[in-house]
Amino acid sequence: MPSVADLVEDQVLRSLASPEGYATGRLLADQGAVTFEQFGPMVVRAVVADDGEPYVVDLRVGPGKLAWTCSEPGGSRGDFCRHCVAAAIETWRRAPDRAATSTAGAPPVPQPATGAAPQPGPAPAAAPTGPSFPPISGLHAILFGPDADELRAFFGQTLGLASVDAGEGWPIFAMPPAELAVHPADVPGQGLYLLCDDLDATLAELTRRGFRSFAPIHEEAWGRVTELALPGGVELGLYQPRHPRPTG
Ligand SMILES: [Zn+2]
Repeated sequence: MPSVADLVEDQVLRSLASPEGYATGRLLADQGAVTFEQFGPMVVRAVVADDGEPYVVDLRVGPGKLAWTCSEPGGSRGDFCRHCVAAAIETWRRAPDRAATSTAGAPPVPQPATGAAPQPGPAPAAAPTGPSFPPISGLHAILFGPDADELRAFFGQTLGLASVDAGEGWPIFAMPPAELAVHPADVPGQGLYLLCDDLDATLAELTRRGFRSFAPIHEEAWGRVTELALPGGVELGLYQPRHPRPTG
């Protein structure tokens, strides 16, 4: 049975909150706005001070996933608001068994660079260790297109991926866990697909964020599939897999 602290991974919070809600919530957490009234494995109650007002956030282990409430008017609509984000980030940081693996106490996701100094590459996400990851520490995918700025805006603003400044404003985006398959083919090559857990929900969310350039869904034995038409004519597959997925 997972605990609340197990269910508040950074990528989960990003998928639940709006990009603005996520950014504001993280700011609140970083400002020390969160205090805990209860910190149990199944229930966490936090008070988030926002602009002088206290908001009470409950995070609980729901059926297989995170459940939450916020005391703010409208919080009962079920939005994963900035207060929920702030409480969840602090929960992640303070989880007792996380302290041993995260020296900075922050989620293991590269953060946007704040200073002028170029940052080195992203820190390895949740450092995969153990026999299933010999000398490889990650997968670096590259898209090529005539309008890099628009492509970057899709990943940074529409998808809301965190990034690090690799130098002179060149962003490298954080991605969820990767996997690699090999298909027999006459012509050597590479392919790139994004994965999601619920294609309908993902496309609805993309639409809500103003992105509608995707092909009709087609059903394959291995998943439900579409193609995203990204700026500059770049095509990128997106599918909800039906196949098993490896875990690190
Ligand atoms: Zn709230």
